[in-house]
Amino acid sequence: MHQQNTQAFTLTGGRVIDPASGRDELADVAVAEGKVAWIRPSGGGPLGEKVPVDGLVVCPGLIDIHVHLRQPGFEHKETVATGTQAAVAGGFTTICCMPNTNPPLDRPQRITRLQQTIKKQAWCNVYILGAATVGNQRRELADFGALLETGCPSITDDAMPLQSTKQMQEALQKLAGTGRPFMAHLEDEELSGDGVINAGAVSQQLQVPGQDSLSEVAALRRWAQAANSVKQARLHLLHVSTAQTVAEAKTLRTDNIFSRLTLETAPHYFCLTEEAVLESGADAKVNPPLRTEHDRKAILQAVIDGDIQIIATDHAPHTPQEKAQGLIDAPPGLVGLETCLGLILTHLFHTGHLSLSDILAKMTYNPARLLGLPAGTLKSGAPADITIIDPYKQWVVDPDRFYSKGRNTPFSAQNLTGQAWGTIRGGQFLMQEGKLRKDAKL
Ligand SMILES: [Zn+2]
Repeated sequence: MHQQNTQAFTLTGGRVIDPASGRDELADVAVAEGKVAWIRPSGGGPLGEKVPVDGLVVCPGLIDIHVHLRQPGFEHKETVATGTQAAVAGGFTTICCMPNTNPPLDRPQRITRLQQTIKKQAWCNVYILGAATVGNQRRELADFGALLETGCPSITDDAMPLQSTKQMQEALQKLAGTGRPFMAHLEDEELSGDGVINAGAVSQQLQVPGQDSLSEVAALRRWAQAANSVKQARLHLLHVSTAQTVAEAKTLRTDNIFSRLTLETAPHYFCLTEEAVLESGADAKVNPPLRTEHDRKAILQAVIDGDIQIIATDHAPHTPQEKAQGLIDAPPGLVGLETCLGLILTHLFHTGHLSLSDILAKMTYNPARLLGLPAGTLKSGAPADITIIDPYKQWVVDPDRFYSKGRNTPFSAQNLTGQAWGTIRGGQFLMQEGKLRKDAKL
């Protein structure tokens, strides 16, 4: 594991928010030997060095369960080192990486090899999600049991969505009883076809093939059918983007089709619509595509109501050359690790839609609980993975300053309010006052 800081220090005067325990109060947080030593009302004697964080929010280290680190195979887009630096800069201490690499992360040896790289080069905790099918070919399901045993918290078909009901059924069956949900990328490829953005006004205006928004909900219906005969079927819906998906997922949950159905979205689905493509071109090309204002509002409302429990980035870096190929040929995806928190605070907190505690639950406790990760809470004895947030910091998105190799964002030059001020992992400051500590011991 990474190096721990043995030096004790106390974060003093901050507003400590821990959604897992319901704590939201001014308090001091003492850290020693890589763990939270205690949390006490502000003003007592500090343990070790005093680090004043007055006016800032102290919360459990943020978690992002949907990140494309691109290693192995696509190191020109991102690496374990650069992707986790971007994560730490964005306030994340734990991420899960997606298995659509080359070779795909579909068998224990490949997981173990990447885990070794992670151990040496990662700035934050990284868990690897196992690929659902052998070689990501969708012909044959991978050995889920072996993948979980190697340390994968769960299995996903992200980027390579399963199409056959029978395969979905088998996948749910294999995970039933493990307590882990299948993490599904909802896309019916017959309906999405060769669409490069949402099918609608913008695709017509630009005369590019559109992707029918029904594609997402059609896949959900197939999963629901697959779940019929599987007791204890658990499903997590990755990056949901349409109003209809949210509505039908709610019905499925009410009807107990899935014993636990969870939903995730990414900030771009409640901050942007398909219109962003007109301004940002291929930098706003993402899969699933940005949808209509009606969809955006429904996703936002579902986040507010709790029908969407988790916010993740779907951080998907590509090179400028790849994105310069234009809407049709550029690969889909945008980078999110360094803009996520700012977008969320700007669009959910400063608009009055959600409290900080409700927001942080979707970025700490909820994802940790979903995947059984040993993270997501701040209490005595827990690993000192802590994020310190300045909710009122005003800043402008400048992709040239990203730690990620990716520059592909439709949020370039946007004004945001709220940013991570510090990131502590295992009791060690990895980022402070917005800058990575290059002297950090990994
Ligand atoms: Zn993804």
